Amino acid sequence: MKVLIVEDEQYLAEAVAQVLRKNNFDVDISLDGEDGFDNALSGVYDVILLDIMLPKMDGLTVLRELRNEEIFTPVILLTAKGETEDKVVGLDSGADDYLPKPFKTEELIARIKAVTRRRGEFRNEDVLSFGDLELDPLTFVLKRGGEKYSLTQKEARLLEYLITNKDIMLSSDAIIEKVWGYDSDAMDSNVQVYISFLRKKFAALGSEVRIKNIRNSGYILEYKA
Ligand code: CA
Repeated sequence: MKVLIVEDEQYLAEAVAQVLRKNNFDVDISLDGEDGFDNALSGVYDVILLDIMLPKMDGLTVLRELRNEEIFTPVILLTAKGETEDKVVGLDSGADDYLPKPFKTEELIARIKAVTRRRGEFRNEDVLSFGDLELDPLTFVLKRGGEKYSLTQKEARLLEYLITNKDIMLSSDAIIEKVWGYDSDAMDSNVQVYISFLRKKFAALGSEVRIKNIRNSGYILEYKA
């Protein structure tokens, strides 16, 4: 599980990161709002721990901008004393939970598990669609009209990632982290192979959906009806 901590108090960020790493989380740290926003845009995180008072861009703005960009990674706001109003605004702006500082590690881990589980349940029910295609992320069945094709788990995960981030160019690195896992030794060529598998299946279904690739930049879905 991949966690992004956006927190300008470096000792606190490091301390939380250390505890999370001990619990087998993969952790990145951003020390200001802008960097946090840029990192979060990659869409590779399973959860974001977001401080409110941050240099360059405050936490609530980061959150709103992320939701505007259709990044729906679960966000837990880390609220300091006296930020109760911010917390309410935060939940309105699309935060999934908040945790008052200081907090206990067990509490933090419990909250992380709760928001990611909630998201998992939500995702499982949803058939994802893009252009003329529909993907059932549970059964891995890809449909176009009455035609269907069974994808492998990896193809389905890759397509799911592309559809849920349909407005963003996804780099090979981001795809590898999300689909293969951050500890995998998969390479760009693996991604290319799976992209070509998906293209073949789109073609077999007569779909107008394309996977556009821009060299050194990444992949994005396109649909021209
Ligand atoms: Ca702060």
